[in-house]
Amino acid sequence: MSRFWSQVVRDLTPYVPGEQPKIANLVKLNTNENPYPPSPRVLAAIQEELGEDAARLRLYPDPNADRLKAAVAARYGVTASQVFVGNGSDEVLAHVFMALLKHEAPILFPDITYSFYPVYCGLYGVDYRTVPLADDFTIDPADYIGQRKHPGSRGQPEKMAKNEIGGIIFPNPNAPTGCLLALDAIERIVSANPDAVVVVDEAYIDFGGETAIGLVDRHDNLLVVHTLSKSRSLAGLRVGFAVGHPALIEALERVKNSFNSYPLDRLAIAGAVAALDDEPHFERTCTAVIDSRRQLTSDLAGLGFEVLPSAANFVFARHPQHDGAALAQALRQRSIIVRHFRLPRIDQFLRITVGTDAECAALTEALRAILG
Ligand SMILES: *Cc1c(COP(=O)(O)O)cnc(C)c1O
Repeated sequence: MSRFWSQVVRDLTPYVPGEQPKIANLVKLNTNENPYPPSPRVLAAIQEELGEDAARLRLYPDPNADRLKAAVAARYGVTASQVFVGNGSDEVLAHVFMALLKHEAPILFPDITYSFYPVYCGLYGVDYRTVPLADDFTIDPADYIGQRKHPGSRGQPEKMAKNEIGGIIFPNPNAPTGCLLALDAIERIVSANPDAVVVVDEAYIDFGGETAIGLVDRHDNLLVVHTLSKSRSLAGLRVGFAVGHPALIEALERVKNSFNSYPLDRLAIAGAVAALDDEPHFERTCTAVIDSRRQLTSDLAGLGFEVLPSAANFVFARHPQHDGAALAQALRQRSIIVRHFRLPRIDQFLRITVGTDAECAALTEALRAILG
């Protein structure tokens, strides 16, 4: 705290990302990075963009990243006017809160979800209500369709009129549970709230779900957000995008152009285009992660863990006899890092990123030793 701090800064509660330890030889299963390298075409494209002497870095990048928008549009069968791109999907989401979710009425998101959402609400002064997940940690679409449960007191239905909802946002699959909501359930939520933007954060959709991008032509209130950080192995490049009706995209462009004209640098644009262009590499690495997830889930179950059904590149698991925080600590002593949240309802869970088969085996061996 300092007397130089603005009131806004005094009141902020920033997001705390999973740690990026500077220690070598860790088994790092805490931030849902992809264990496989990106497509080799990414490096080739970046090198080509640099050229012999990197002289092109002298010049600003394309402020509209038109090449990247065209690549996203081609990959997903939409037009470039339906695509917004940003410096990681976290930046895209930040603009979404400012441009499309900040209204008089509160927005809704699950009580257990991506913990950046309440942070953006704090930053932009967006009012929100959390909607409890069902007892099995899934999203109940009925809670977002007029009939919803009162915040904090689960199981007591309370009517909420349509104009009382300023917007809706949730990840699909949800984080940190990994649970998937079916596409028809999403469409029901979108249809039932025609006067509110529904944002589906599909950071993990490629690991086992069906994208809602196919619905944007039918629903002008649906925005789907993607990242290249997880399924495209490019967390270090910082590229995300959103797909929706051109009017939603225009709102995002207005905020972006009031904030930073060049959120994507030359290397990020070139690398992202190349990544979207290598479908075989994408399919191969996603399949490998899905296969490892199946094995990891069964190994954890064999050790007595309850593992939520995951459609993501992580699993969310708890052991009936062992404290979650203690397990995370014991793993850390064995140089294995997983994510543990000290939050209501989920403080007994570990969120474990699906690594290579060798990393998953190291994790299950360590757990076997810890559990005794
Ligand atoms: C990882 C993640 C993001 C952010 O991804 P970046 O593109 O790396 O900023 C957004 N939403 C959810 C739910 C995530 O897990």
